[in-house]
Amino acid sequence: MATKRVVIVGGGGTGDYAAFALRKRGFGGEVTILSADKDRPYDRPYLSKEYLRGEIEVPKVFLHDEAEYEKERIDLRLDQRVSGGSLKEGRLTLEGGAEVAFDVLVLGLGGTPRRLPDVPQAQNVLTLRSLRDGRAIRDALGQASRLLLIGAGFIGAEVAASARKLGKDVLIVEALPVPLQRALGRDVGEIYAEMHRAQGADVRTGTRVDAWQVAGGRVTGASLSDGTREAADVVLVAVGIEPNLELPKMLGLRIEGGGVRVDEGLRAAENVYVGGDIALHPHPVLGRAIRVEHWEVAKNHGRGIAAAIVEGHQPYRGLPYFWSDQYDVNLEYRGHASGDDEAVWRGDRAARQFTVFYLRDGIVEGVLSMNDSKTNELGGKLIESRRRLDRAALESADANLAELAGVAGS
Ligand SMILES: Cc1cc2nc3c(=O)[nH]c(=O)nc-3n(C[C@H](O)[C@H](O)[C@H](O)COP(=O)(O)OP(=O)(O)OC[C@H]3O[C@@H](n4cnc5c(N)ncnc54)[C@H](O)[C@@H]3O)c2cc1C
Repeated sequence: MATKRVVIVGGGGTGDYAAFALRKRGFGGEVTILSADKDRPYDRPYLSKEYLRGEIEVPKVFLHDEAEYEKERIDLRLDQRVSGGSLKEGRLTLEGGAEVAFDVLVLGLGGTPRRLPDVPQAQNVLTLRSLRDGRAIRDALGQASRLLLIGAGFIGAEVAASARKLGKDVLIVEALPVPLQRALGRDVGEIYAEMHRAQGADVRTGTRVDAWQVAGGRVTGASLSDGTREAADVVLVAVGIEPNLELPKMLGLRIEGGGVRVDEGLRAAENVYVGGDIALHPHPVLGRAIRVEHWEVAKNHGRGIAAAIVEGHQPYRGLPYFWSDQYDVNLEYRGHASGDDEAVWRGDRAARQFTVFYLRDGIVEGVLSMNDSKTNELGGKLIESRRRLDRAALESADANLAELAGVAGS
């Protein structure tokens, strides 16, 4: 293969894994990462879990040692924001005006935490995306006794679980009547809220902040729509992200469904690949376009993009997967479904060891498991099989899931 210059914009999950996978596959050309982040690539999921709780420290959070970039000849340029460029001319423009030329471009730009317009800008109102955000929250929590969390999505919930483990009072204010209902359905959402309540978090669903109390540049409390007035030392706004689409728009890439439209092989234009949170990917197994904001997806997109660059264009078939650890509960999810899909339960809800299969027209589209890893893995095979399945067969404890999925050797 002719030597090429691969330029990766974004030093997150997609970008870092793409760079190292290129070398692993024997790519001999130039590999450059341009990252707006001031820190070298790190494992973002640690930020709401082990790192926040002080169980691991900074060197362990990084994905690679500095020396590994040098050894693999990966030119990692930090604190470099790409502000524009031309795909036709194969060049990018950095903030400050410098230009960088590429033959193949990879974009893994992630997202920016959403801010709510009526939340005051105050020293102790924080969001969580970067390592520096993580450090700020860790420091703030160290001084605090009561955390107010706005939003009970995965990141909010993980921070809540970490703060409870640290012995902090936690109040979660969630506008929806049931957390995560849209993604996981009402029943799972309720179990999830209950799990937090059982650990002492005060979870107020169907509730909003009506007014904020601010003194000396800090939020001191909030008046809630349930009529209560609550004190807080730290506020974390965790209401999702806006995918970073400014650069793809400037480069003229197709924006659709809140992301950059790519083909089955994660290619957005000739010699331009896009992965991770910003990619809207027509998934060849699921048969529809999906955009997923999860770590393993970003990592595996990075690896898939490297394979396409080295071996030639090919569909990316990996199923979405994520996990979330909260207290002593391990959640795992494979595939991509909606909370409105038909939910078929298997296992023991009361013991919090179960799996939910989400079916559309009898085909399993997603599988959620609580402390039930083995079933989740087999659930992935059921999704891949695209077989139409009988509800009763899935529910039955005697059913052999591997056999249902037609997995060899079952
Ligand atoms: C606290 C936290 C905990 C999480 N926990 C989990 C979990 O347990 N499980 C799970 O599956 N997922 C988790 N996620 C989600 C997961 O981290 C993301 O889905 C993943 O990081 C997305 O990877 P990415 O490559 O798309 O973007 P990112 O990892 O966000 O990387 C984007 C990179 O692009 C850079 N960038 C953006 N714009 C520019 C530009 N114009 N020029 C140069 N650089 C630019 C950014 O600085 C950053 O380096 C968590 C996320 C957070 C914030």
